Amino acid sequence: MTLPPPLSGLPRTPADITGPAPAAPPQPPAHPSGPTRATATPSGTPATPYNRHPTTTPSPTPTTPTNSAQTTPTTSPTPTTLTSTPYSTPATRVLAVDIGGTKLAVALVDASGELLRRGEVPTPDSTDGPVVVGALLELIAHVAEGVAPAAVGVGSAGPIDPVRGTVSPVNIPAWRDFPLLDHVRAAVPGVPVVLIGDAVAAAVGEHWRGAGTASTALLGIVVSTGIGGGLVLDSRSYPGPTGNAGHFGHIVADPLGPECPCGARGCVEAIASGPAMTRWALANGWRPGEPGPSVRPIGARELAADARAGAPVAVAAFERGAAALAAGIVSVAAICDLDQVVVGGGVSRSGEILLGPLRRQVAAQSHLGFVRRLRVTPAALGGDAGLVGAARAALSALSPSTPPPPSVQPVPVQPVQPQPVQPVQPVAEASAGVSAPTILPEIR
Ligand SMILES: [Zn+2]
Repeated sequence: MTLPPPLSGLPRTPADITGPAPAAPPQPPAHPSGPTRATATPSGTPATPYNRHPTTTPSPTPTTPTNSAQTTPTTSPTPTTLTSTPYSTPATRVLAVDIGGTKLAVALVDASGELLRRGEVPTPDSTDGPVVVGALLELIAHVAEGVAPAAVGVGSAGPIDPVRGTVSPVNIPAWRDFPLLDHVRAAVPGVPVVLIGDAVAAAVGEHWRGAGTASTALLGIVVSTGIGGGLVLDSRSYPGPTGNAGHFGHIVADPLGPECPCGARGCVEAIASGPAMTRWALANGWRPGEPGPSVRPIGARELAADARAGAPVAVAAFERGAAALAAGIVSVAAICDLDQVVVGGGVSRSGEILLGPLRRQVAAQSHLGFVRRLRVTPAALGGDAGLVGAARAALSALSPSTPPPPSVQPVPVQPVQPQPVQPVQPVAEASAGVSAPTILPEIR
């Protein structure tokens, strides 16, 4: 058996992890797992002033949104301001859009971050850009029916170009330099439309309404098929000059490690993503579900189940992935003086199978005092973090120059096509193009 190149200081084989784990210093209690949807604030609760952080700017400079249809784009994306929402009212409604390779989700969100109405469809498995955007626009029309949102926030898988309003999601081949915001503006005319990365949106969502509300310097990471990240620094999102800051998955954790699709070696994503951990486990003798015939799919979920059952290679795969994640996290903490990391994404739902070794590894790799205060907590908003963050970006785009649309009047939201929530269909079943949206009219 050929082992992959070692990750410095990390277990290479199951036998390597049987030794005593490094002693972890006392950690602050983890944030308890919260609801999977933004339900913490009762409906109708006025917007919470976002000024709890004394180091933040008291009020954002009223600027016109970078990507507003009414303005000329500037040369850099507008950061999502998290200090206050001076131009919204409790009756303000914004539209939040979350675009990923598996699903497209849209929600109508109030000024407190509560999802009033939500729908999602599988991302069409099509190479035809208009087919994919057609599915999105139909979903927007359903969710926004009867209500004129004051702004639209779009969180998209990247790379993105917030200045030009284009996206090139790696997992959506139909879109390359696709003018997404032009389509959204045409569907929801006359209001600001802003674009941020999906992982940045998730970080902003967790900071605003999820597990990171007490943080002033937060890294949100999403561990899934790939690994993404977003930064909230001084309680403001930091998208960077091109809108792509926080690409946590492509921090190099092991310069001699496995090749990454980005072209580098040993990126965190190449070691700790679900497929990467599964590949490593299989190459090191993991036999899913042993004993017994294996007829189930093979992926991170199965790997987590076997790790939970004590399968040594599966446990080692998570230890190895956690060590790579920790290397990246500690590096970012040293650079950015982080106080919290929020871990979300499909792989993170394996719970302590990942978070346990991750906390131990972060503690073992943290030596500077200011880094050791870092808290590692699970995400609280589940799959809705991106929508909540996109809504926050939309609210941030409101300014005195934004004429209030009818939606700011206290008109009660009418449910649209009440249907039971259905699981997302496999992408392959959506290859014909647009699927009927699943609408969740009211979330409580
Ligand atoms: Zn990479």
